[in-house]
Amino acid sequence: MKDDDIYGLDIVVADPCRCGCALIRVWAHSTKSKIPIWKCVWCQKRRGKPTDTEIALLNAWLKEYGYTLEPLAFCDDGGIRFAYEVFGRGRGPVAWIDEDSSPDRAA
Ligand SMILES: [Zn+2]
Repeated sequence: MKDDDIYGLDIVVADPCRCGCALIRVWAHSTKSKIPIWKCVWCQKRRGKPTDTEIALLNAWLKEYGYTLEPLAFCDDGGIRFAYEVFGRGRGPVAWIDEDSSPDRAA
């Protein structure tokens, strides 16, 4: 599975960091390990690891809409969308995990 491109995507979370920042970003664990981890955008404190579902959603977003500098948010109903929509500032694209495509079948 090629998931390098999810690095640098920002996600708004309901549970802010102790520094008060509610944005987390996908980082590679290290230069040698491409395991994705979450870090606070502001203080760069580690905020755990993305779940398989979260990684799949991030990849689904990239596949549908491409890379963005806008913060994204995971929806309660399972999709991923621009964070501003979650706050009721408009409607826009939502990406969903494509249940039919397996990671092995990448184009
Ligand atoms: Zn922080």
